[in-house]
Amino acid sequence: MTLLAIVFLLGAAPARAAVTLRPPVELETKITTVKDVLADPEADAGRVHEQAQAMFDQAQNTHHIPVDGLGYNPTRQDAAAPGQKATIKSILDTYHTLTAAEPPSPLMVDEEFERDIVKGELRMQEINAKGDMGVDGENGKAKVLPDEALAAYQWQVGASEAGSVVFQNFFPELADWTGEFATETFAHEADHAVRGKEQDLEHADHVEREVTAMRKSWYFITHKITDYSWKFAHMAQQVMNNPKAPAYVKQTLVHIGKILDNCGTPDGCKKYASALYGDGEHHH
Ligand SMILES: [Zn+2]
Repeated sequence: MTLLAIVFLLGAAPARAAVTLRPPVELETKITTVKDVLADPEADAGRVHEQAQAMFDQAQNTHHIPVDGLGYNPTRQDAAAPGQKATIKSILDTYHTLTAAEPPSPLMVDEEFERDIVKGELRMQEINAKGDMGVDGENGKAKVLPDEALAAYQWQVGASEAGSVVFQNFFPELADWTGEFATETFAHEADHAVRGKEQDLEHADHVEREVTAMRKSWYFITHKITDYSWKFAHMAQQVMNNPKAPAYVKQTLVHIGKILDNCGTPDGCKKYASALYGDGEHHH
């Protein structure tokens, strides 16, 4: 008998703990970056100047942040055209733009992650081209995601290469609040989708699957979103204090904060993934 169990790999079940905000500008990190660039025998003066300039610019800009609404950051990259609401397509375009951006510095780049990010992006474009990417419950399809999930890679047992990616109904609104940070979910689902295509999903432990996906998110945020730390701190500060911000936006920011805090190492990420997914609840 054919086994037709449907499997969902859910992205980002929001955490429930309180948020600890980072300092607005992590000067220590910036100084370390400048030191790394200086230590590179191949470093040219232009690269050093660029890093130092970025560090000083951010230190100054810290005191000029708009306090209202969504305009948390003058360097924010919107996931929608000016004056428009975000859509899955426009968020996918933002994801593509960020993915295609040049790496920040050879000293900070991990070649394996870079290859995986590119692979993931191609896979997401492929799924989208087939019409297998969209908002949950649209186009006559049944709603499948639980409230706490942002997205899922969905496939049939025995056919993991032919999956689809479904996003929570509120995902476009989430992107209106979080700008380019919404694309971390694409990096997460892309990892499941690539592994599905490579027939590598069904044998893996479900926590381990989430760890590799969350590590892709971590790499994506920290290497593809320029000055992510500064942007994230300001966005979190504003959104967390905004009574109009929906709970799912705040929960997602907590989740992203935990990815940043934990997923820089496989062990740290495993602890967080176990807390989120270890009970098996999110794996049907
Ligand atoms: Zn997942």
